[in-house]
Amino acid sequence: MKKLLVLLAIVAFVIAMPFIGNKSTTVKNPHKLDADGNFIMYDWHHEGFKETSRTGTNPEWDYMLKPVQVSERVWCFFGAMEMPTKENAGDMSNSCYIKGNDSWIAWDSGPSYIFAKQAHAAMKKIADLPVKTVIVSHEHDDHWLGNNYYKETQGALIVGPKSVNVNYLGYDEHTGKPGENTREIPPQTRMIRALYQNAIRGTKLASVDRSFEDTTKFSAHGVEFEYVKVGYAHSEEDWFLYLPEDKVVLVGDVVMNGRVTSNRDGIVVGQLNALKAIKARDWNHLVPGHGFITDKTGADESIQYFTLLKDRVLEGIEEEIHPDYITRSVTLEEFRDKDLYYLLSPGNVFRSYEELEMYDGDEEDEEEEEEEGEE
Ligand SMILES: [Zn+2]
Repeated sequence: MKKLLVLLAIVAFVIAMPFIGNKSTTVKNPHKLDADGNFIMYDWHHEGFKETSRTGTNPEWDYMLKPVQVSERVWCFFGAMEMPTKENAGDMSNSCYIKGNDSWIAWDSGPSYIFAKQAHAAMKKIADLPVKTVIVSHEHDDHWLGNNYYKETQGALIVGPKSVNVNYLGYDEHTGKPGENTREIPPQTRMIRALYQNAIRGTKLASVDRSFEDTTKFSAHGVEFEYVKVGYAHSEEDWFLYLPEDKVVLVGDVVMNGRVTSNRDGIVVGQLNALKAIKARDWNHLVPGHGFITDKTGADESIQYFTLLKDRVLEGIEEEIHPDYITRSVTLEEFRDKDLYYLLSPGNVFRSYEELEMYDGDEEDEEEEEEEGEE
């Protein structure tokens, strides 16, 4: 009897082996991740980390950032597939570092001053360089609230959409410079309201120094860039960054994968145009604004999502479905298992309904245009 118990104990231990002391996160599609085939997920959802510096009471939030190398000169920090919360401290979007000859170039600066500071500290271990240039994809605050770290401590030039200055700081819409509506006290963004003080402390809304009217090619710190304007797509003004020598494209939120996008400020027609412009470039790696897929299939989910969204909502309009019922009759079943589906997809359907009801964009809708009697 005793022997049997010992035997059972041994069997139980062997079965439990894989779970003992195992803190790593399972990655479902490792082949789709970084260039070296490895991917580092942050461990903040694990029990053991609850008592660390990831609470509101410690002197400084610890983002525990680990850069992932995407290509020879590009590293990125990948955020959680969640909405911004106290628990993730806004680390739910992707931001990247590009290695220039005398400086890092930052692509999107994350949700806070402290995030940017810790990201730079992590990158200095790879190459001890300053950050003299920051390039921003769009105005949502999970992508650029780190800007004032780079401006204040590095004297960096912030390149980005004019909409940051106009919509947050009240700068003049035409000149992009301070004007009569400029706010003395910048608004509290959702991030500033949501985060613990020890994560958001030091964050100030920094203005964009340099904006372009249209797609521009330039080189900075020995790296060639094409900064591509896609306009009103995911937000009022979206841009993506193409690195022709590296065959890498950093696309911001016009592409997300593994989760459903938020189209609350966007338009489906603009999104599809943006995706076309991305497809038109020659690249091997794509870094989405949210999500972990960085290979040649990186944009596929977004293309499928927006194509289906547009087709199905237009069908719904044709069938004269009442707006109250549109989110019930138009669903995107194919994305049911993606993160944030239940939270965001119905909103995207409703938003697209509002947009496409007035849509008179392409050939298929010619009769509508005639009825309106305008060109
Ligand atoms: Zn966004």
